[in-house]
Amino acid sequence: MSFSMCVLGSGSGGNCTLLQFQEKSRTRFALIDCGLSMRETKRRLAPMGIELSDIDDILLTHLDFDHFSPPWANNLEKFDITLHIHHRHRARALQNGVQGRRLELFNGEFQLGESTAVETVHFAHDNLGTVGFLIEHDEMRLGFATDLGHVPDSIFDHFRGLHALAFESNYDRQMQVNSPRPAFLKRRIMGGSGHLSNVQSFDTVQRIAADSNLSHIVLLHLSRDCNNPKLINRQYAECAPDLLDRLTITSQCEPTPMLNVHRLGAKGLPIEPRSGKQLAMFD
Ligand SMILES: [Zn+2]
Repeated sequence: MSFSMCVLGSGSGGNCTLLQFQEKSRTRFALIDCGLSMRETKRRLAPMGIELSDIDDILLTHLDFDHFSPPWANNLEKFDITLHIHHRHRARALQNGVQGRRLELFNGEFQLGESTAVETVHFAHDNLGTVGFLIEHDEMRLGFATDLGHVPDSIFDHFRGLHALAFESNYDRQMQVNSPRPAFLKRRIMGGSGHLSNVQSFDTVQRIAADSNLSHIVLLHLSRDCNNPKLINRQYAECAPDLLDRLTITSQCEPTPMLNVHRLGAKGLPIEPRSGKQLAMFD
């Protein structure tokens, strides 16, 4: 049994994360969001030996085009993929051409396959909001949240006892303020129902880490114009050096390594995997 993730790409140009679950009888694959084109998703999966037809499920945070690329709607049937969306997003999914029989609506918890449980958290973001996921497989818990707008207290009720966290870190506040973007856009991003700054993200990650046993901290959705991974690295190095070795900063263009969600040993070292061969491809 194992549970792994790979962020294929993240940012306003398209978001897509692969989840891999080892079940008793087979390996199961799911995506969180499908905001990259089908061709690009296929290209990024290929080095791992995974094809689009291997994907069983897509979990959507919301239906903005950087999280749901519309051509996927017509191909769900072809690849026999189930699209899991919050019931509030149903009308928008149908407008985008998704066939009703491909949809599984959720409003709380649901199950994926034989042995994966998903809890959901609703966040403010534009009109319809977005969804965060707490995914539990083989007693390992991954928290995934992006496009939050602001951090509601309820997140700390759900995102505790985690073994991995993937979390938005969209913009550096100073770079955003100084950018030539129009004022309405800055207001949309920073006004509480857009995106999280690096500082908001860092504070939240630190608080969740204190109540968890994180093997990976994966930062999502960095703004191309108003962020810089070096600033984030410096913040962690200066203020939370103990978390730095678990940090993965995602990019728009390159997939992350396949990250194995695991327990840390007492001194922060990974516990040796039971089978070295099984985990050889992971970081
Ligand atoms: Zn987005």
